[in-house]
Amino acid sequence: MDTLIVHYDEVGLKGGNRHRFEDQLMANLKRALRGTGYRGVRCSVGRITVDFKPPGLVSEAAARAARVFGVANVGAGLRVEPEIISIGDAALELMPVGSFTSFAVRARRARSSCQVDSREIERAVGGLIQERTGAPVDLSNPDATLHVELFSGSGIVYRDRRPGPGGLPVGTSGKLVALMSGGIDSPVAAWRMMRRGAEVELLHFHGRPYTDASSLTQALDLTRALSRYHLATTLHLVPLGAAQAEVVTHCPPRLRLLLYRRLMLRIATALSDERGARAVVTGDSLGQVASQTLENLATTDAAVPGRQVLRPLIGTGKLEIVREAEAIGTLQISNRRHQDCCVLFNPRSTSTHASAEQTEAVEIALDINALVGKALAGRESQVVEAMSPR
Ligand code: ATP
Ligand code: MG
Repeated sequence: MDTLIVHYDEVGLKGGNRHRFEDQLMANLKRALRGTGYRGVRCSVGRITVDFKPPGLVSEAAARAARVFGVANVGAGLRVEPEIISIGDAALELMPVGSFTSFAVRARRARSSCQVDSREIERAVGGLIQERTGAPVDLSNPDATLHVELFSGSGIVYRDRRPGPGGLPVGTSGKLVALMSGGIDSPVAAWRMMRRGAEVELLHFHGRPYTDASSLTQALDLTRALSRYHLATTLHLVPLGAAQAEVVTHCPPRLRLLLYRRLMLRIATALSDERGARAVVTGDSLGQVASQTLENLATTDAAVPGRQVLRPLIGTGKLEIVREAEAIGTLQISNRRHQDCCVLFNPRSTSTHASAEQTEAVEIALDINALVGKALAGRESQVVEAMSPR
């Protein structure tokens, strides 16, 4: 194989902005395919093609392209002349005897210089494959599908399509800061915003020296996993333990968790301003735990008036989130044992409906600005690349 063909869906709907989205998608593909030996990336008539100088790592490149946001599907195949003989030769090379039980040929022709129309190509190439392999045609549920696409005076023949994640290319929707614990939900929330085209920086709070380093390893591994899609991700590690100790000393136990959350949001918005991010993201899901009732979420947000807090999982149930975490490859990491800072000095019960006034009255005992400033001053940041290919 010497060529990849990449289709996109939402990007194609962007009207006047379409070129900006296509350019970003091509730039992201080039970054994702570094080291695979690709030669040229071109966009023509609603698809992107990537050519390789043999022996390129075309299968590896297809797997990587299938994780780039904006990509609807990817095929790996051969570039051909837009005429029956060349297409037929490629088809037989890609469909050797015994490698499938039934098949279909699907041809598409866009502004092609080819004289033959799509149906004729399907019939001719299908006949040739059937004659050589003896396999039956099955148009409704084929074991293998051979695609022929002719456009811009050239053609590509490929077998089967690998689905991509869809969405929009990272870099087309501005920047966000996502609060990421070591748990299951927040990496999925960050992933969803990445898929909407946002560049997402991750923020993890740890309880050092009151907790061990397990949540740091956890955050780092989750960031690596997300970088398989987002390519290179900035991870900020911020110490919250000292601020939590202040909360424990000065405030009632039933409000602790909420006070931690309000501190987290204040720190996150301060960091957002510094990093040029427009909003923060959390992995809250309505009613999942005590801090995620409507009242408590409103009280949490009241700590950062006028700021946008995005909660992409708000209407998603746990089972669905778990399934998504498994599909994107974060579940295994999230399931590892780790010490999260939220369990630090955790009281036996948490208020499920604390008002903003109640929490503000209690916060008078704290020097909030100093706590936020100290936490941010203790921040460690790094850019985390994807796990290198095996
Ligand atoms: P998760 O599985 O994402 O940890 P959760 O259901 O356990 O979520 P909570 O512990 O109540 O929920 O946390 C709610 C949200 O607060 C998280 O989704 C995350 O966005 C943020 N958060 C919680 N703990 C941390 C942390 N240690 N660092 C950064 N953000 C955190
Ligand atoms: Mg959690």
